Amino acid sequence: MWWLRSMRPLQRAGKRIYGTFHDTLDQLTGIQKRELLAHLAGECDPFRILSIKKGPGTHECPNLIPSAYCSRLVGCVCHPDTMHIEWIVVHMGWPRRCGCGYWFELCPIAPL
Ligand SMILES: [Zn+2]
Repeated sequence: MWWLRSMRPLQRAGKRIYGTFHDTLDQLTGIQKRELLAHLAGECDPFRILSIKKGPGTHECPNLIPSAYCSRLVGCVCHPDTMHIEWIVVHMGWPRRCGCGYWFELCPIAPL
């Protein structure tokens, strides 16, 4: 039975308290549970929010941005010396060019 593996007796100040704690995995639901399962499976970036190194970024070979949705907000650090990020919205199937000249395109991934 699934609940037996998470049962453990509690002890406080030498006295045994009868009760159980469930594992966090048993208490979570929805997106939090899927995120924890992805972390347990070894996926360190399940939402694909870590920065991506820019490639050539030409129109023929744009920088591919993973997205599970039809559009995504993409931040481009146009020049390494600048202190701001240029934000652009990229839609699926429509490559978009940043002001610095780099092209970005969404590549579909499965949602979490
Ligand atoms: Zn840019």
